[in-house]
Amino acid sequence: MTDRINRHWRLAAHPEGLAKASDFEWRESPVRTLEDDELLVRVLYLSLDPATRAWISEYESYVKPVAVGEIVRGATIGEVVESRNARFAAGDIVTGALGWQSFGISDGKGLLKISNAAHLPIPLSDWFAVFGHVGLTAYVGLLDIGQPKSGETLVVSAAAGAVGSLVGQIGKIHGLRVVGIAGGEEKCRWVTEECGFDAAIDYKSEDVPERLKELCPDGIDIDFENVGGEILEAVIGRLAQNARIVLCGMISQYNVTEAPPGPRNLVNVLMKRGRIEGFIALDHYARAPEAFRDLGTWCAEGRLMYRMDIVDGLENAPIALNKLFDGSNRGKLMIRVAESASSTTG
Ligand code: NDP
Repeated sequence: MTDRINRHWRLAAHPEGLAKASDFEWRESPVRTLEDDELLVRVLYLSLDPATRAWISEYESYVKPVAVGEIVRGATIGEVVESRNARFAAGDIVTGALGWQSFGISDGKGLLKISNAAHLPIPLSDWFAVFGHVGLTAYVGLLDIGQPKSGETLVVSAAAGAVGSLVGQIGKIHGLRVVGIAGGEEKCRWVTEECGFDAAIDYKSEDVPERLKELCPDGIDIDFENVGGEILEAVIGRLAQNARIVLCGMISQYNVTEAPPGPRNLVNVLMKRGRIEGFIALDHYARAPEAFRDLGTWCAEGRLMYRMDIVDGLENAPIALNKLFDGSNRGKLMIRVAESASSTTG
């Protein structure tokens, strides 16, 4: 045992609908002594992601669900404070999935040293806005699954979010015409004025099928789908010949207790000789070096805009998670777990 205290959240119940505070249990326990090959990481930032909601449900998604009583899963950035593992030394900054806790013990598997991974053109807190699973998702999803060709029309839903805003900007870098779909005038303005999208549709106040008709007169070549439901149906209604639907996420369905029917117009995918392909970024980690190199270059050149939504304090993680589902997050949602990398006690 050390005198360090690990503050953490365990799953108390699989949520029904939106997660509630009572679905989580706060605990504090002493950090145990390291065994051979282990290292101790002080977590600095925790990423909150739509996938968290899938992981804490009782159903298997693409990974095993978090069991009741287990520490809630989540991607983290942290500083190694002690190491008995030859690959890591105290002071290294690492990213991995250490979960909703202030200290994580790891055998090093699945941890990536950020200090050596890239010359960061951004603050450490912003890593997941450009790199990590978010950057990889946008990069692989658009370029590998979407197979864009210059001059094509790309539609992105949840366009002002972490993944969506990167997708649209990577699309512009590759010569696409980009139309975003987002909730609210402010988000639509941000993607057009700051991120350089050609147009944006406010799905909360505009008629999406009508606006897609106006903005995509020759149809949609690539749909980067983050939302599903009615938005996906509207996009399917405007597909161009040989369109690709990159099925990245379906956030409109992550909290529903009964799956909605539809889309009702799938026949249009057939008529347009289209392709729908789901993908999970985790399966594409072999592409990370190239993706992070390109994303780092574009970022350093000022060609990638992003916003951070950083909530202070691990204790606020359960409440903050729902910002992703009510749309109140402005950019990549993170929890600041500890103040800085310099202080190593907790
Ligand atoms: P975002 O930063 O985009 O935040 C989520 C956004 O989704 C909200 O801000 C909100 O924006 C929108 N949203 C939430 N509920 C609804 C709804 N019912 N209808 C329409 N829009 C809604 O999150 P991420 O960038 O982290 O994730 C975006 C998508 O990418 C998700 O679907 C996620 O599951 C997926 N993803 C997939 C991965 C993969 O490997 N396939 C990996 C990472 C993410 P607004 O205000 O515009 O409504």
